[in-house]
Amino acid sequence: MYTTEGVILRTRNLGEADKIVTVYTNTRGKVAAVARGARRTRNRLLSVTQVFTCGRYLMFEGKSLDTLSQGEIIHSFQAIRDDLEKMASAMYVCELVDVFVEEEEANKETFDLLLNTLRLIEAGEGKFALRVFELKFMQQLGYQPQLDQCVNCGGPVEEQILFSREGGMVCGACRHKVNPIHVISKGTSALINRILEWDLSRLTILHPSNQSLEELEACMRSYIDYRLDKPMRSLEFINTLNDFPDSEVTS
Ligand SMILES: [Zn+2]
Repeated sequence: MYTTEGVILRTRNLGEADKIVTVYTNTRGKVAAVARGARRTRNRLLSVTQVFTCGRYLMFEGKSLDTLSQGEIIHSFQAIRDDLEKMASAMYVCELVDVFVEEEEANKETFDLLLNTLRLIEAGEGKFALRVFELKFMQQLGYQPQLDQCVNCGGPVEEQILFSREGGMVCGACRHKVNPIHVISKGTSALINRILEWDLSRLTILHPSNQSLEELEACMRSYIDYRLDKPMRSLEFINTLNDFPDSEVTS
């Protein structure tokens, strides 16, 4: 038996009234647990096992799955579940954690990054917060993009700034050997450096241009796809939302 703080990354139904929850905990990393009766109305586990909820959970260890037997809400993130765009952003960060992190591999830094990113998404700051999350999360996993030398030949990077899907800058001589390539501005390159070097709390004072945000999004999309072996489900949802112009008025 153990108690842990965690964020519900994903849930799926089991039988008639149970749920299997994937929880990212601060002490044990990613844990899968059964929440018995959690889909029944008035069940005490109903609200604490909703996706994105941050709570304190009492778990029993099991052979393949643990059992989530009690929980209390620390932060419900209800405002995220009430808003399609915020929900899409939160689904994306939770899916990233779910696919990149192995079970039972705790990382306090990643836990704090996830929680703070959900707070920023809830506050409507998702656009920049997602880019910061992508870069810092890759850094924490040991996949920090290479910025000072060419990712292909190791040579110096010249004036024009080119970012490859293999995670770093490319020199002029290699630009046709590496595909696809994103041309980014000096401002975006400086932004990447700041995101990697500064703490999250300090980064919230920055207000990057739309151009930088779009360039960074394209680079990170391409880099993360390169690191993954299958497409992310939450991106389909985001793309569906983008097909409806009304979903863009919140920014
Ligand atoms: Zn090169």
